[in-house]
Parts: sequence; structure tokens; C-alpha cells
Amino acid sequence: KLVSREFKKESTIIDVGGVKIGGKKLAIMAGPCAVERLELTVGIAHEVKAAGASVLRGGAYKPRTSPYSFQGLGREGLDYLLEAKKQTGLPVVSEILDTRDIELFLEKADIIQIGARNMQNFELLKEVGAYDKPVLLKRGLSATIKEFLLSAEYIMSRGNRNVMLCERGIRTFETQYRNTLDLAAIPTLKELSHLPVIVDPSHATGKWQLVAPMSKAAIAAGADGLLIEVHSNPECALCDGEESIKPSKFKELMRDLGNIGRAV
Ligand code: PEP
Ligand code: MN
Repeated sequence: KLVSREFKKESTIIDVGGVKIGGKKLAIMAGPCAVERLELTVGIAHEVKAAGASVLRGGAYKPRTSPYSFQGLGREGLDYLLEAKKQTGLPVVSEILDTRDIELFLEKADIIQIGARNMQNFELLKEVGAYDKPVLLKRGLSATIKEFLLSAEYIMSRGNRNVMLCERGIRTFETQYRNTLDLAAIPTLKELSHLPVIVDPSHATGKWQLVAPMSKAAIAAGADGLLIEVHSNPECALCDGEESIKPSKFKELMRDLGNIGRAV
């Protein structure tokens, strides 16, 4: 299979506008869960960049469990991310929900995110597979490693070789935190596949207090990078405030990660 280490021995390094993902340096993607106001988005972008992030995250289209929750700013949100990119130079990753938005994402995003809920949306996988735009594929809520890799295979088999795998926690019997971060998935995915492995400690735990320790654990286990939710005012965040860390905390974490092994 195209995703497998057997097929390709060397680890894949994905170049996102000069930012290398899967190489010697850790790829740190950070930003708000959802794009909210323009000034807020731009402000967070400056702060995460100053702390050492190399990619800005932000959801413009949000896959919310409840239809009454904030659904994202849509197209306008992508424009706010573009403005933040213009000011900071950070490439942006944002989630696509619908194949009909592909042109929009090809134009406005540097990395297209496929969320956990769409890991087996095969039409969406095939659509992003038809271009060479980098894709961040998140593991499904209850997906096995095999299913996860087969979803990546869907994208690659259509021609797109720029795929990153993102472990974001799985459903278990535990209710103390939102999901259970599957740390063993990291070395397992690295062994089975040549693709970069990114870990999302925010959705994996749902608790800001757990983001730093799980980030460190993920890097120690061999992750190529992290996807972290950062918000300057988490109490007022329109989405996932309880798992978002403040910029000061993010800065501290970046400093600590420098001591774990791979340079940030
Ligand atoms: C996200 O990263 O914004 C997100 C919705 O995550 P997940 O798909 O992992 O739930
Ligand atoms: Mn979120």
C-alpha cells in the first residue's frame, strides 16, 4: 500500500510553503478551535508565532455535535485566517466539511484538515486526493489503526502524496476526559507508515490542564508535531474553551518541549 513503510522506506517530509512537516524539526500547529473575530484571530496568530508555532490552525467550518452550537464563520473565517497569514507569514490549516468547498480551500488554505467525524467520508477523501494540497487527516472517533491508514490510502491512491496522520484521542469507557489519547498509536503509525504523525492533545483530552503533559508525552513517543488549541480568552471562546490553553501557557510549553529532544 502507498501509505506503508514497505512501499516507501524514508519518512515523508511535507513542504508547506517552506515549513517542513515530518523532518528534524517539530511542526507545531496552534490557534483557536474556531475562527471568531478578525482581531482575535490575528492576535492569537502573532502570539503563537512569537512562541514558536510554524502553522496557524483555525476552524471556519465547525462540525458541531449540536445543531444549535456555533457553526463557524464559513468563507469569512477563511478570509480572517488569510489576513492572519499575511501579517505573520504562518501557513494555515483549516477543516473542510463538504466536497463542494474544495475550490475555496485550494485557494485559501495551506493544509486541508479532514476531521475525525469525516475520516470515513470517502467522497471527501477522494476529492482531496485529487490535488497535491497537503492534507491533515484526523483519526476517527472510534477508528482502528487499520481503518485510519486505509482512509489515508484513499487520499494517496487518488494521487495526493502529501498526507499527515493526526492522532486526536479515541472513545473509550473512560469519562473523566473527553477522549483517551492513544499514545501507542504514535510509534505504531511511524512503524507501519512513512507519513508524518501529528498529535492533537486538545481534542484528545478536552481539558486544558492535560494539554502540556500530553504534548510532552506525544513528542517523547515520537510524534512529528502537535496541533494545539490556543485562545487568549478561553472562558469566552465560542468553541472548546475548556481545552484551550492561553498564549502564556503555550509559550511555556514550547520552551519545555525544547528540552525533550527535537528542537522546536
Ligand atoms: C478540530 O480540530 O477542530 C476538530 C473538530 O477536531 P476533531 O475532528 O479531532 O474532533
Ligand atoms: Mn476544537
